[in-house]
Amino acid sequence: GTLSIAAILAETARRRPDAPALHFMGHTVKYGDLWDQTRAYAGALAARGIGHGSRVAMIVPNVPDFPRVYYAALALGAVVVPVHLLFKADEIQFVLQDSGADVLVAAAPLLAEAAPAAARAGVPLVTVLAPEGLEIGGAPVARLEAEAAQAEPIERYAPMNPLAAATVLYTSGTTGTPKGAVGSHLAMVEQIHCALIDAFDVRPDDVLYGGLPFFHSFGQMAVLNIAFRRGASIILLPKFDPDEALALLVKHGGTLFTAVPTNFAQIIEAAKRAPELPSLRYAVSGGAALPAALLEAFEATFGAEVHEGYGLTETSPVATFNNIGEPIRPGTVGTPYWGVDVAVADPDVEDRIEFLTEPGALGEIVVRGHNIMKGYLGRSDATARTVIGGWFRTGDLGTVDADLVTTIVDRKKDMIIRNGYNVYPTEVEAVLARHPAVSMGAVFGVPHETHGQEVHAAVVAAEGQAVDAAEVVAYMKEKVAAYKYPRVVHVVEALPLGASGKVLKRELQQTYGS
Ligand code: ATP
Repeated sequence: GTLSIAAILAETARRRPDAPALHFMGHTVKYGDLWDQTRAYAGALAARGIGHGSRVAMIVPNVPDFPRVYYAALALGAVVVPVHLLFKADEIQFVLQDSGADVLVAAAPLLAEAAPAAARAGVPLVTVLAPEGLEIGGAPVARLEAEAAQAEPIERYAPMNPLAAATVLYTSGTTGTPKGAVGSHLAMVEQIHCALIDAFDVRPDDVLYGGLPFFHSFGQMAVLNIAFRRGASIILLPKFDPDEALALLVKHGGTLFTAVPTNFAQIIEAAKRAPELPSLRYAVSGGAALPAALLEAFEATFGAEVHEGYGLTETSPVATFNNIGEPIRPGTVGTPYWGVDVAVADPDVEDRIEFLTEPGALGEIVVRGHNIMKGYLGRSDATARTVIGGWFRTGDLGTVDADLVTTIVDRKKDMIIRNGYNVYPTEVEAVLARHPAVSMGAVFGVPHETHGQEVHAAVVAAEGQAVDAAEVVAYMKEKVAAYKYPRVVHVVEALPLGASGKVLKRELQQTYGS
């Protein structure tokens, strides 16, 4: 058989060459042109010896060169290794070495970290977006654009074994060194088709918000690949800015907003000061728990439903979803994708899966199906610990009811134990988000001499509001059990966010933990 992710761009370009693919900095790139540019980039990479099974690392923000480089590498049968945009030189070097990269394609603005990483790893570096004549350490920098102008463009994308690796996506490594989750062409295509048939309802004339970074599984799959499979267009936003996001959605007639909960909180605040709002068809939230207060505020502001899904990089990424066309179940992450199995296991039994069969039992969510990664690259030990008998251990605590409706309670590692009582930050955050002066809050544990851990919260004020920390403590004490409410509230300008927009709880713990 043959099945390539590169077909997503190539076949859409063949069928609808004049349809818009990307909106970026006032320009629109059509599918036909984007595929021609991609074929040229592929020609340049082929001239560098890249081909079947090569590994192409790339560190490129959400600009038109992301899809060009991504699909060019895939069209050659190479494996793409997108690198986290915030990684420092040492971290990039680790990814280059761990993945066995054959080349690093780096956007010029990221060269300060990327160039030393490539040099130290001994990996050839080629740039995109660099001005002609740019030098590093006195030597001219290779430019993919220039090489593409010289090279012979490829004609077709390479036929692939469906089970061949397509991507290696490094998880951000909350628990130690990052691990590269290997995704096959088949897993990705299946995921995209399940999304389009059952879950998402993306139409060719849809215009998607493209602010979720494409290096991360969520943005790459739920925005880039899904939109391109359908021939819809994407508004590219290299950096999330809620006011700009709103203005661009209005300007380009944006219809779909797919984001992480922090982006929802930010865009709800931005809407209060915006001259005009876009007319969205619906929105998709994932990557972290969406507090019900945010779902309601978004629907009230934009008149568009929010559909929440759940998954991980290792599950390509969606495992469960509140499907379009089915009743939304707020506070849950919906039901499993077509062909995906979700169950609950005893979190304390590590060497095997001990299923908890009572419907609604609280335990570790485990997932089985076509969407599970092939494994962690070069880490058979870690793979064997996480994928047991085809079941992937998510590290998330939750429940699955008799109708397979799934609820995520929290990450196992984020649970706070205060005086022997389990506190689930997500639950407390949902209450915090209901406070009228609070836009969003993050709850986390801090080591404590007598309680083991103390519950802290960091909160951001809503537009035009002032937050009084002591008043928030009193409010929370009223609303939740004595062992759960945050004893310490820190009022902050902004929460520390990772490149994917998720709150970095580790950073909060470091800041307030000593
Ligand atoms: P790490 O590298 O430590 O795994 P990460 O956030 O970078 O962290 P991802 O694969 O991006 O890893 O995210 C997966 C995690 O995001 C899930 O394990 C879960 O904890 C959380 N998550 C995703 N969607 C939801 C949701 N709808 N509700 C609650 N949590 C969610």
